[in-house]
Amino acid sequence: MICSVDLHVHSSASDGSLTPTEVVHLALRQGMEVIALTDHDTTDGIGEAQQAAAGSPLKVIPGLEINTEGPDGDIHVLGYYINPNHEPLQERLRILREARLVRARKMIERLAELGMPLEWERVLEIAGEDPAIGRPHIARALAEAGYVATAREAFDRYIGNDGPAYVPRLRMRPEEAIAVIHQAGGVAVLAHPDHHPILKRLPDLVEAGLDGLEVYYPEHTPQDVARLGTLAARYGLLMTGGSDFHGPGLGKDAPMGSVTLPAGLVSRLTARWQRQRA
Ligand SMILES: [Zn+2]
Ligand SMILES: [Zn+2]
Repeated sequence: MICSVDLHVHSSASDGSLTPTEVVHLALRQGMEVIALTDHDTTDGIGEAQQAAAGSPLKVIPGLEINTEGPDGDIHVLGYYINPNHEPLQERLRILREARLVRARKMIERLAELGMPLEWERVLEIAGEDPAIGRPHIARALAEAGYVATAREAFDRYIGNDGPAYVPRLRMRPEEAIAVIHQAGGVAVLAHPDHHPILKRLPDLVEAGLDGLEVYYPEHTPQDVARLGTLAARYGLLMTGGSDFHGPGLGKDAPMGSVTLPAGLVSRLTARWQRQRA
């Protein structure tokens, strides 16, 4: 069954396979009413998506998903109703993007020191349109140059988290992401909280101003939903949800609209945003 609301959708502005326009056309074909475009670390697709939806019954909520680093690993923070033209937000996102390039170059230096020189230009070519240059592209370059048999082997031997050529990524802390989202006028929601042991830090994030929890998500079991719903109620958090749609052909297969959301969720999100603005 297709739900008419999906608050977690990616496009080719980050790592999705459909352009923002294609995402909107698909949503319209499915008869959807509301989607939120939540690309990783970028708001670049929002203008195009809103233009594609102009004059149609589809509402596109401007959003993003910031990849942050917590003490126990990756934490994703969704921002809804952010103002994409907010300059301090864009400045932070630019720094994150540049940090990816610096990090990739450092890994290539280390690989050269280990006797595996790669052409930087070739790594850029492999990354192609993907704005998030990183380890998968370096792994392919290593395989192509014959230093390893497969990209998997590149991770296992050299660029995995314990590998000799690994360089950590500069990331925001989740508290910073919450603050940046608020400054840009948005509502901050902890994404798919069952992917990491973050929930024990939930009180800290609530203290930092967290507004909501992504309770409804493809991998969440009914028990997860119940448990997260209880936590949301305890801390006065909004509940949101979505499919984390990335488009076809990427191995992340939840279709847009495939997560059923309870009624009233969008109006509560919108009310929260309007209250914050007031
Ligand atoms: Zn995520
Ligand atoms: Zn996502």
